[in-house]
Amino acid sequence: MSDSPTPAERAAVDALLGPPRSVWEGAVRQASDHRAAFGGYRRSVEMRPLLLPALHSVQDEIGWISKGALNYICLRLGAPPAEAYGVASFYALLSLEEGPRRRAHVCDDIVCRSLGGLEMLAELAGRPGVHPSPCLGQCDRGPAVFLQRAGEDDAVLVDAGAGQAAAALEGADIPPPRAEVPQAGDPSLRLLRRVGAVDPSSLEAYRGSGGCRALARAVEMGPEAVLAEVKASNLRGRGGAAFPMGVKWEAAARHPEPRYLICNADESEPGTFKDRVLMEGDPFALIESMIIAGLAVGAELGYLYIRAEYPLASARLAEAVRQARAEGLLGKDAAGSGRAFDIELRRGGGAYICGEETALMNSIEGKRGEPRNKPPFPTQAGLFGRPTVVNNVETLVNVIDIVLEGGEAYARIGTGQSTGTKLFCLAGAVPRPGVYEVEFGETLGGLIDLAGGVAGTGRLGAVLLGGAAGVFVGEDHLDMPLTFEDAPARGAVLGSGVVLVYDDAADFRGAVRRIAQFFRDESCGQCTPCRVGTVRQEELLARRLGGGPLEEELLDDIARVMADASICGLGHTASTAVLSAASLGLLEEAHARI
Ligand code: SF4
Repeated sequence: MSDSPTPAERAAVDALLGPPRSVWEGAVRQASDHRAAFGGYRRSVEMRPLLLPALHSVQDEIGWISKGALNYICLRLGAPPAEAYGVASFYALLSLEEGPRRRAHVCDDIVCRSLGGLEMLAELAGRPGVHPSPCLGQCDRGPAVFLQRAGEDDAVLVDAGAGQAAAALEGADIPPPRAEVPQAGDPSLRLLRRVGAVDPSSLEAYRGSGGCRALARAVEMGPEAVLAEVKASNLRGRGGAAFPMGVKWEAAARHPEPRYLICNADESEPGTFKDRVLMEGDPFALIESMIIAGLAVGAELGYLYIRAEYPLASARLAEAVRQARAEGLLGKDAAGSGRAFDIELRRGGGAYICGEETALMNSIEGKRGEPRNKPPFPTQAGLFGRPTVVNNVETLVNVIDIVLEGGEAYARIGTGQSTGTKLFCLAGAVPRPGVYEVEFGETLGGLIDLAGGVAGTGRLGAVLLGGAAGVFVGEDHLDMPLTFEDAPARGAVLGSGVVLVYDDAADFRGAVRRIAQFFRDESCGQCTPCRVGTVRQEELLARRLGGGPLEEELLDDIARVMADASICGLGHTASTAVLSAASLGLLEEAHARI
């Protein structure tokens, strides 16, 4: 294999970075290049955040990253090749081996596996470029296939069959899936009100539907008043940790500038797709919310980090940013505020762990997406060591109504500690899967009824709440109000809003083993309890599936060590679903109805 880039690889990198300016960056030697280089260290620091985008450029154009291409990227960015290799090899969607120019990543995760994903994989077995994939965030319309296509835009096939996937690998066109929600037209919708009803590609249409009013009001109010309203709203984060957003914003705003805002759109928790629906269906709402947040916390730059498996949402957001810039909502005088604020889109590389906020920051900085120890917390020393606010998509979009209605009015919706509405991802054995918006306090049973009740056998087997990092609960939880207060009190979690319904004929042991495989694959490997524990846990379940006894004591030991001694939430929660399944008897040979 050549150590030099091909002309096409050079062109792919130069398309992102511009042509090299000197021999030190890979240009042909000029008389002006002399024999000494200056500013090399500074260049390597400044350019390093472009490493992942540069790797994507080559992957997108060529279909894989050769040694020559990696060398050229390192030359352009002043990055050490060993470190760049470490980053490139970290992400599942970057390939360091030559392969077909079109690849089909077929979802076989906890939802798609029961919708035909496993059969599709079996039918496509042996075809070059076909890979099993963790959850693609299309659980309401699976089975799903993510198509990575060199030289073309990536795409997603939903409700797919093996024939369609095979045709797509041959180059067949893929129509973009439609963004829709089952409650469309319901006047009580707040966060979902525009999805499917307003053209997501037009800022004018967004304004026509009441968009940008909150931004104008926020500019009028000024940052401190906006912050006060957010605090009064008692809005808590919707990404899983439920941290009070006003406290987070205030903490960051107390620290000196420069500060950063990050929108975490790396929605990768299996069973979760609510942020995708918001981004595809109402991208301008997210951009407006980010501008309000950026101005309130005094950030001049916001990163929108989106998972690579959401090509439609990425395209819509890129267009929304373009239009917002053209209209002066972003830029040196953002929305006439007198302050600068802009948004940069960043694409993940297929790594669940980058949804963890510190791993995400490392990923933006051009490092391996490995979580950092906390403290220091991001509000103090986050991205590039600066104060940083990280919020997820759903959390941010709430800011619009808080600004328009006032924090106190907002806080009257929902319950004392869980204010506002919540999006839930209903999937599995329900007749009408999709994203549902309800006021906090709706019961689990009421939510399942909204989606049409239990499909399949019609008898509930269990519900997985909160995704792979969540817990299985049984019928006795149907009366549980879905709030941040009630869920923990009943041994459950809301997590990222996953409500995955299983009937009593479901293959629980297969699903639980898939969850264990997921964590084994997605552990970043940085700390031993998680790196080894996730493997041992999966082995234990494989033995159980093979007819062995359930080694409960060992399972408990592994879970305790991972929960106590891991650095980040992945290790802390990698056993929760498995343990809850065991306690409900779902790992028994023929599990009885709960
Ligand atoms: Fe990485 Fe797991 Fe440790 Fe988190 S707990 S840092 S995912 S090894």
